[in-house]
Amino acid sequence: MTLNGKIALVTGASSGIGEATAEELAAQGASVVIGARRTDRLAALEERLTARGTKVLSVELDVTNQQSCQAAVQAAVDQFGALDILVNNAGVMLLGSIVGADTTDWTRMINTNVLGLMFMTDAALPHILASKGSIIQVSSVAGRVARLGSGVYNASKWAVGAFSESLRQEVTAHGVRVVLIEPGMVDTELRDHITDPAARKAIAERASQTRQLQASDIANAVVYAVTQPDYVAVNEILIRPTDQVL
Ligand code: NDP
Repeated sequence: MTLNGKIALVTGASSGIGEATAEELAAQGASVVIGARRTDRLAALEERLTARGTKVLSVELDVTNQQSCQAAVQAAVDQFGALDILVNNAGVMLLGSIVGADTTDWTRMINTNVLGLMFMTDAALPHILASKGSIIQVSSVAGRVARLGSGVYNASKWAVGAFSESLRQEVTAHGVRVVLIEPGMVDTELRDHITDPAARKAIAERASQTRQLQASDIANAVVYAVTQPDYVAVNEILIRPTDQVL
């Protein structure tokens, strides 16, 4: 129980990596604030965690809306009195070609993956500075390697890397740790939301040939980063399935 007494807020906790991360942080003793748009899924997670003795607060959260981000952070602090860990996990991956793209997909990706993460960071920073806490930014291998058919998703995750490194340089002297997590292919519902049928088919085919990571593998990486002694800053964790080349 290495996170006893710590308060963690996880965005996108209604499924996949966010849900697993909330569970793992709770298993380590943290109280958790879980945010997403699908409140029915949050309620089910809250029930499971509460049954195990975790203190949980569910908040309806749309990270693309700055007021919603501020309200979620305020609710967390009102309920628990502090915020030690922010996990900026909410994201969408709407793969597809650049030529002839549905640019509403671009808007959703930039608003969620980039601006949403920035709004949450902005809202949480005063509290994270006060607690000398940690900000976990869920980027992707896609923030390190660009691929055909993934241009705007790549751009969004590249932005996460740049923003987070700049933030790290700004706050590390205040004892705040910024951690960039870069997963390869994880078996979640992320790709089910792709609107371009060809892109959805292509990634499903790649997935079927890969022993994919599980959401819990990424949750374990988050726990590793946030349970190091205060003087150890794990800046970046890149995790691919062994079968994934690029
Ligand atoms: P999921 O689709 O399972 O989870 C995405 C989560 O983000 C959901 O809980 C969803 O909740 C939430 N979300 C989406 N839009 C918003 C929004 N506007 N406001 C609040 N929450 C939102 O996918 P993953 O768990 O795989 O993805 C989590 C993160 O991991 C993403 O940032 C993704 O880019 C990254 N990642 C995933 C990889 C993979 O292979 N799966 C690989 C590398 C990185 P709701 O819809 O209820 O709001």
